Amino acid sequence: MDKKDSLSNRLAQGPVICAEGYLFELERRGYLQAGAFVPEVVLEHPEVVTQLHREFLRAGSDVMVAFTYYAHREKLRVIGKEHLLEEIQKQALALARNVAKEDPQTSLLVAGNICNTNIYDPDDPASHKTVRMMFDEQVAWAAGADVDFIVAETIGHHGEALLALESIRDTGIEAVVNLVGHRAGYLRDGISLVDCCKSLEDAGATVVGMNCNRGPATMMPLVKEIRAAVSCHVAAVPVPFRTTETHPTFQSLEDPGCTCIPDNRPFPVALDPFTCNRYEMAAFAQEAAAANVRFIGACCGAAPHHIRAMAEALGRSPAASRYSPDMSKHYAFGSDPSVRADNRELASKGAL
Ligand SMILES: [Zn+2]
Repeated sequence: MDKKDSLSNRLAQGPVICAEGYLFELERRGYLQAGAFVPEVVLEHPEVVTQLHREFLRAGSDVMVAFTYYAHREKLRVIGKEHLLEEIQKQALALARNVAKEDPQTSLLVAGNICNTNIYDPDDPASHKTVRMMFDEQVAWAAGADVDFIVAETIGHHGEALLALESIRDTGIEAVVNLVGHRAGYLRDGISLVDCCKSLEDAGATVVGMNCNRGPATMMPLVKEIRAAVSCHVAAVPVPFRTTETHPTFQSLEDPGCTCIPDNRPFPVALDPFTCNRYEMAAFAQEAAAANVRFIGACCGAAPHHIRAMAEALGRSPAASRYSPDMSKHYAFGSDPSVRADNRELASKGAL
């Protein structure tokens, strides 16, 4: 494969699109269980993971993120499968790498991925050692797979974010560190997102920013604050859901119009009515790019149609654009002369 530009060089030229959301999409497709949310699918149905990578590639993602999210020691311990850790990690990295080879432009970046460990306790130094060990083993597997950079994401503690960054930085690989914006809008150890990002920049992150939990509407204002406070590149990777000021995260959304949801909580598997459409995600990508936020993606809930619309909004024409909507030949809404007038009349009368 050609030697590609580094992440830094790519970002210097313009936005980098990063498709994510493998966990939710594979749950919807019936290959992954909501709750524990462990990506066993990587071993059980690798062809399905490969296909989703391929769909994101066709839709215009510049990055194949190895599906190692939540494939860490603590998550696997909860389901009694810690012995599968190394196998899942290496297989996920290989799947991402193999799809990247299918890219006709040979420019696709491959990213390793580490995330919140769920065991970090600011007041317990022993937990810091364990967290660092968990990051180190995953980062070593990613480095062994020759990834172009590593994303540390959905991190909710300042201290844990620094441990993740140090682990990546010690290998010399470029790091993207994305924080999660809980309802309160600051990190669990009480530090603001902005202050945390500033310290991550000082500690050598290539990109700092946010991913998951918040939709475009409630992530953008925080990301713009981060953009104003740091000089390095900034990431915005929201969930494609219509979060609001009163319900700023997808966990906090309520659906009063539906009485049949278990626990009366749409998160995580009844969020369908809140899903952003492709035009909303396209508008988000444009607004992010205009704000000089260059690492632009979509997290849990994202599907290839979102990514294609975002890529097109940034002036790209990915392979899947061959099938982008063209309503001119629709039997009733179309404007093409070949469309029958009686059918068109149905639409013009508002009869459909
Ligand atoms: Zn997510």
